[in-house]
Amino acid sequence: MTVPTITLNNGVEIPQLGFGVYQVDPAETKDAVLTAFEVGYRHVDTAQMYGNEAGVGEALAASGLAREDVFITSKLNNGHHAREDALRSFDETLEKLGGEYVDLFLVHWPLPGIDIDYVDTWKTMEEIAASGKVRAIGVSNFQPAHLDRLLEATDTVPAVNQVEVHPYLTNEAVRSYSADKGIAIEAWSPIAQGQVLDDPTITEIARKVGRTPAQVTLRWAIQRGDIVFPKSVTRSRVEENFALFDFELDQADVDAIAALDKGHRTGPDPDTFNWIP
Ligand code: NAD
Repeated sequence: MTVPTITLNNGVEIPQLGFGVYQVDPAETKDAVLTAFEVGYRHVDTAQMYGNEAGVGEALAASGLAREDVFITSKLNNGHHAREDALRSFDETLEKLGGEYVDLFLVHWPLPGIDIDYVDTWKTMEEIAASGKVRAIGVSNFQPAHLDRLLEATDTVPAVNQVEVHPYLTNEAVRSYSADKGIAIEAWSPIAQGQVLDDPTITEIARKVGRTPAQVTLRWAIQRGDIVFPKSVTRSRVEENFALFDFELDQADVDAIAALDKGHRTGPDPDTFNWIP
């Protein structure tokens, strides 16, 4: 099955479907990512915070895949916003992933309440980009007001904004604002960590199209143009979540799922989250 790609604002192509490794045990990460590669995934989403970048790097090395055939994202941890910490931790990320470059590196959270301004952190990200060791830089959990400040004060428009999006939090304001600025949306927790899978609207559409609720929910995100990377360490689910490109939802079903929005977050609110590990 061929996964479509999205072209980012600097011309770099990213597979629209990937494999997320949040909450994958570091000791299990190599095997989980190798399973995903076997199934056909060529895009992995990790983060310094997840503690499992080394496992992703080990899987990459063991897979026999050409580096250019795999797309790897990592994210700057919350305690690393100061310039020296960002530069040093990026080098550690590169070493753990084991390559000469990272495809996409993100500021994980804006942390608007800490004493290091995310605008300054973004300038350090631009330095990292200038080093040639990353193909694209972006942000995660940035609200329109946060993006506005970056766009005013710096030269690089983020390639992506990775934010929580699923049927119970369609996050339309952030999605449309980002799209207007040429910033691609990556939808994290695309099945709301499983919370939407018993929803009657979704189970009914799943029955109608002969697919699972997870497939319907992920397909919905794909048809809306978002990039997704569901997480599972169960092989059958990893396969299920990959089989999204041989069916389609009609517009009425896409709209019915979007109408389930109730502003429900499974994770923190970016405007008030200032946690540093
Ligand atoms: P998800 O929505 O992908 O749900 C994962 C959970 O759903 C798993 O624990 C699994 O038990 C279950 N599941 C997966 N496939 C299933 C299936 N087919 N049927 C039934 N249950 C299934 O949630 P997530 O892991 O939080 O998000 C996906 C990825 O997004 C993460 O791994 C990470 O890469 C990224 N993420 C980023 C941020 C951020 O702040 N940038 C935050 C959270 C997640």
